[in-house]
Amino acid sequence: MAEQPRVWPEEYGVVFALGMCSGEIKGKVKLNKALALLQRDGFPIRNKFKNAPMGPHDAKIDTTAQEMEKDHLISIKEEPTTYDKNRISYRLKREGQTYLEDDFREQFAFANNQPFSLALLENFKKTQNNVLTLKTTKLVEQVHEELGLDNEGNLRHDIGQVRGALGQESFIAEKGVDPSCPICLEVLGSLDFAMRSLDAMLESEKRWFTTGWQDSGKSFILFSALRLIDYSKEFRRHQHNLDVRLNKDDSISLMRSRVLLRLHCIEYNGVLYDLIHPFQITDDEIESCDELRA
Ligand SMILES: [Zn+2]
Repeated sequence: MAEQPRVWPEEYGVVFALGMCSGEIKGKVKLNKALALLQRDGFPIRNKFKNAPMGPHDAKIDTTAQEMEKDHLISIKEEPTTYDKNRISYRLKREGQTYLEDDFREQFAFANNQPFSLALLENFKKTQNNVLTLKTTKLVEQVHEELGLDNEGNLRHDIGQVRGALGQESFIAEKGVDPSCPICLEVLGSLDFAMRSLDAMLESEKRWFTTGWQDSGKSFILFSALRLIDYSKEFRRHQHNLDVRLNKDDSISLMRSRVLLRLHCIEYNGVLYDLIHPFQITDDEIESCDELRA
């Protein structure tokens, strides 16, 4: 079985996000987006986000940051700007940098040992670049578009639609399957896991009739499921039984890594947000998942 990410302490996320952004993040909204994107893309960030209007947002991030300031790991400053009187800036202090570096190798080691490390790094760089270069409003707009957050209220309907699209893609992919081809098994197995995860989410009625904003976990899973459909389409005409270990084509390795990362993200976010449960999956299925990821 692939190595699971070690559980990061809750505050580590804030320090990690600041480390990702050269030691400084300007604005609460940006800090929330940085952590939400890392979590969506498989990093072990433990916050529980909600699809708030400027979200994904977790009020706990504020409290955590204040505690880290008391521990002298970061500094928090109010910086007036022309458009925002009370923009909060977070900066990593020397002690925070040391804390990050001491743990960094070990904490990040999981990333290099995963079958999806190429894709994990790809997403890390993308998030890093977006948080560093985009204005807050643009970043929020982009995240909302990627997660379909402006359809709030129709999330359940969206999940039903993606479930249908997964079924359709799986049907097409199965027609071209070679049962001895590892890529075919990875793609089909991932589509199947996504379908069952979405089914589990749709079936757990009670989680849909609460008031207030929806958990972002559902939107994160939906995002990963949609990516899987795209990747499966890209793989439709792949060469069967390619020896992936000897294969020199890096684009194939990256594509496989993307599929496996989305499989990991659906499982990670599903369990974190209590949307899918290990007991819903039989031992045989766990075994076949392990084989896929081994
Ligand atoms: Zn194949």
